[in-house]
Amino acid sequence: MVSFDRGLHAVGDDVFAYLQPDGGWGWSNAGLVIGRDEALLVDTLFDLRLTGEMLDAMAGRLAGRPISRVVNTHANGDHCFGNELVPDAEVISSRAAAEEMPGTPPELLDQLVSADLSEPLAGFVKHAFGPFHFDEVTLRPPTLTFDDRLDLDVGGRRVELIEVGPAHTSGDVIAHVPDASTVFTGDILFVGVTPVMWAGPIGNWIAACDRITALGAETVVPGHGPVTGAEGVRRLRSYLEWVRDEATRRFEAGMTATEAARDIDLGAYAGWVDPERIVVTVASVYRELDPSHERPNVVSLIEGMAAYR
Ligand SMILES: [Zn+2]
Repeated sequence: MVSFDRGLHAVGDDVFAYLQPDGGWGWSNAGLVIGRDEALLVDTLFDLRLTGEMLDAMAGRLAGRPISRVVNTHANGDHCFGNELVPDAEVISSRAAAEEMPGTPPELLDQLVSADLSEPLAGFVKHAFGPFHFDEVTLRPPTLTFDDRLDLDVGGRRVELIEVGPAHTSGDVIAHVPDASTVFTGDILFVGVTPVMWAGPIGNWIAACDRITALGAETVVPGHGPVTGAEGVRRLRSYLEWVRDEATRRFEAGMTATEAARDIDLGAYAGWVDPERIVVTVASVYRELDPSHERPNVVSLIEGMAAYR
């Protein structure tokens, strides 16, 4: 049982999870796999200060085995904005994630945080993005991309990068370390934290959960929240099925996406961190049900979540 405390935790032999409670907006997890003479970093963090702190914590474990590669599990900034602090490493992502990455650059988030906003947007932006320092970040994009699957040899250890998106975003990847029975899921998995579906389709995300389960890994490190096992994947999968069914019923009854999100009783999921994300997920489900449903831009989705909250 790995405690949900901020910092580096061993989850296997020379395999580590770096955790950031409470797992809400921007508080993402990362991973480290150390081989004979080199190491793989799974994700960087939302800004340079957090990523620097993480790399300091990892330095003692590396003992001269450099981080030669970084994999960004997807395009969201809380998984790639620290890339510039690993300047000598190859940066790997799916091709779809690399294409999506420039769409929400650190400059955009810095503008949002610095803007003179009115309530409720101001309070929400402060809550979600206020703790981070985007003005210091220069995005370092991936230097190697792949489709579907890429197996790495990390100093004698096999790490399987498996593309399971589009789901949470357009190019989600999980990193499986068979010899440690561990999988780093990026934001395909949230534990005790409400998932947010920017891309979809939701059926792909449910299938991604099944792929993780099929790996049979004992240790599952989510993108947000505490380390888990198969049960954490099952809970997230149940949420996705539930939100799909609730949204579909309201779509068929003629409600708008905004009305549907507000009308759904969160029930057992009310205690998950950041419940307002249901606004984004319902809008994405609506887009699947009605292809003419206009895709709201990120700022209007953020406005919708602020109003919900
Ligand atoms: Zn994330």
